[in-house]
Amino acid sequence: MIGDQDLTSLLDGECPDCGSTRFVRGPQGGLTDNIECARCHSRFNFCPRCPMLPDGFAERITTVP
Ligand SMILES: [Zn+2]
Repeated sequence: MIGDQDLTSLLDGECPDCGSTRFVRGPQGGLTDNIECARCHSRFNFCPRCPMLPDGFAERITTVP
């Protein structure tokens, strides 16, 4: 889970790291989408608001080297 402010940014369609509004969508798994910021390449597992998740949901995807 990420912070409320970061989640709000994503729900507004903005990258919480750089403010970009362009995302590349990756594979979808169940309710959530993997999205990657087109500018800074931050990656998130993101679910917009829906009946099952009225507040939305997002989680930062960290790539372990
Ligand atoms: Zn970004």
